[in-house]
Amino acid sequence: MIRLHVKGDIKAAAPVAPTLDQSRYLTQVMRLKLGDELLVFNGRDGEWRCTIAEVLKKGVILRAEEQVRPQTLGPDLELIVAVVKKARVETIVEKAAELGARRVRLVLTKRTNADRIRLDRLDAIAEEAAEQTGRMDVPPVDDPIKLDALLDGWEAGRRLMFCDETGGAPAGSALREAGEGPWSILIGPEGGFSPEEGERLRSLPFTTAVSLGPRILRADTAAIAAMTLWQAAVGDWER
Ligand code: SAH
Repeated sequence: MIRLHVKGDIKAAAPVAPTLDQSRYLTQVMRLKLGDELLVFNGRDGEWRCTIAEVLKKGVILRAEEQVRPQTLGPDLELIVAVVKKARVETIVEKAAELGARRVRLVLTKRTNADRIRLDRLDAIAEEAAEQTGRMDVPPVDDPIKLDALLDGWEAGRRLMFCDETGGAPAGSALREAGEGPWSILIGPEGGFSPEEGERLRSLPFTTAVSLGPRILRADTAAIAAMTLWQAAVGDWER
């Protein structure tokens, strides 16, 4: 069944208004008609079976019929990725939503070759991936910030899986040893981290420097591999 993410509240028997683009998708692409059903979620109220109640020029109005799943949230995994080429950032955001990251943060490092970031486009990619993957929330994508500022403002109790192609502990066993809890994964730019950045990262008390194997991976591959290992070691794949 079609799944749609909306911004507004969802309550029993109340109307739900998708955007005009979503309305067009429902009626023109998917050819839904009055009374047809779909699933709707907003990241707060769980997943609802809705019906098409009205088809208007300014969009369709849905009616929330019943909650079919309560709201849930995946494990506290954040993906932090250096700004890389636009197509790769787009892949990374899509895969982060599929692999269950709660949030994606973009970071500027010494060697980032900043392609212009279009956050609205990345938000749309995250939303679409969340809709198709069945999760109950859409991971927000944050505006790029400098690596130093990000580290200066580090949240107490959160651990950092620093993916370090210059060497580190094997990721799977290092994660299992460090254990469950809020984690962030950090992936560098195509040029890697500078020696000073690497040094600062390794010296921080909340950091676990890990290796993703003997081959150098592109940033998008590294992000997917790291999230996979994290989910298998300390995330929700084994629960
Ligand atoms: N500096 C490298 C390329 C960096 S790859 C070079 O040009 O030789 C981009 C990012 O992916 C790295 O900063 C790192 O975070 C991650 N990465 C790639 N391969 C990795 C590996 N084998 N182990 C750990 N991290 C890796």
